[in-house]
Amino acid sequence: MLQILFFSILSGLVFYIAYGRFLQIYKNISLGITENEKHNSITGLKNMILFALGQKKMFNKPVSGIFHLFIYLAFALTQIELLEILMDGFTGEHRIFAHALGSFYNFLINSIEILSFLAFISTFIFLYRRNILKLIRFQKPEMKGWPSLDANLILMGEILLIAGIFVMNSSDQILQNLDPQHYPSTGKLYISSFIGASLLGQFPQDWLIWLERMGWWLHLFVIYGFILYLPFSKHLHIFLAFPNAYLSNQDSRGKMSNIPVIENEARSMVGLSPKEIQDQTEIFGAADIFHLTKRTLIGAYSCTECGRCTAVCPANLTGKKLSPRKIVMDIRDRMEEISKQPKPNGECNDGKNLFDYISREEIYACTSCNACVEACPVLINPLEPILALRRYDILMNSGGPSEWMSMFNSLENTQSVWQIPETRDSWTKS
Ligand code: SF4
Ligand code: SF4
Repeated sequence: MLQILFFSILSGLVFYIAYGRFLQIYKNISLGITENEKHNSITGLKNMILFALGQKKMFNKPVSGIFHLFIYLAFALTQIELLEILMDGFTGEHRIFAHALGSFYNFLINSIEILSFLAFISTFIFLYRRNILKLIRFQKPEMKGWPSLDANLILMGEILLIAGIFVMNSSDQILQNLDPQHYPSTGKLYISSFIGASLLGQFPQDWLIWLERMGWWLHLFVIYGFILYLPFSKHLHIFLAFPNAYLSNQDSRGKMSNIPVIENEARSMVGLSPKEIQDQTEIFGAADIFHLTKRTLIGAYSCTECGRCTAVCPANLTGKKLSPRKIVMDIRDRMEEISKQPKPNGECNDGKNLFDYISREEIYACTSCNACVEACPVLINPLEPILALRRYDILMNSGGPSEWMSMFNSLENTQSVWQIPETRDSWTKS
């Protein structure tokens, strides 16, 4: 009874704190603007199934893709075991699904164990790649400090989580023979029965009971730790990759959105009738997260910090300061900073904006090549905020590299970047 009470209070507290934190993230994302563009929900669902659920782009790098798949599948399947742990905790039962599922229960737990074992190996390989092999994409300046620690903490948490499963199941395998009344049969669990027979066979019953409970609580504590920790971690992508893939940009690569007012000016210059403008905005581009789309903000929270975008960025590869991963991480950091500010009128007045995080050198180094967009496994588009910041700096601050100014003047006066005096379409008339 005492255990049920403790479990219930602990669970209530964990879910209450996590709810508050997830609500804050929802509010942060809501600070962005809503797009008017058409969104095809069938294509959105297809993207979600292929890229978030199916992890399609992860297999562009097959070795890391397969190890990531083990961790992903183990995580997905252990949710069933978590459900059983929660129900056991609230009811005081032991393996509440065992009788109901019969032989399928044995298949299920064996599958979880095999995937957990593979995930256990994958976790060590990922730790090795980051900390000993030191893959270049994990060593970039934006990965110093917290981002690197965050990745290692989660990997170590996974090791503890899997250790909990095997301590619990291996002692349980022996206890099923000693006290079948309290420990219902799961059938043979291949990995746990091997561990149990090799390491725990000589242990007295009260030690085994203690070990089984230790494994159960360890598993639960790590899961509750994850629930509280996820909203502060890059591993929030476990959830947000789904809406991010659903909402991802459905236009063809390379298509840039026009600013309606400026598009109309260009149309009038070449003698076309203006388009109807629905939202008259005073701001061109983006200086802060309030001017970015909600989709971009969800993307910032979905970033896995894998660095695949930075690894293919020609600007970064040629030694420029730009890293698309850093841009995405900066947007997330800015949202976090704003969420901590007092907002008397619902607005943030800290005198800062995204340009305090992202330098002009970075945004002007971008070649708009879309390589980062193509590389991102969770369909984040780092180019959109880069272009939005650049537009703001040029159109609102009259900024931009001096070399670009003559090009802009030439475009405005002759509709050509090369200052050719003839009108742009004159060749069609000769
Ligand atoms: S679009 Fe810009 S940020 Fe992205 S890869 Fe190309 S140069 Fe790098
Ligand atoms: S934007 Fe995409 S590719 Fe780049 S670090 Fe984030 S998840 Fe990886």
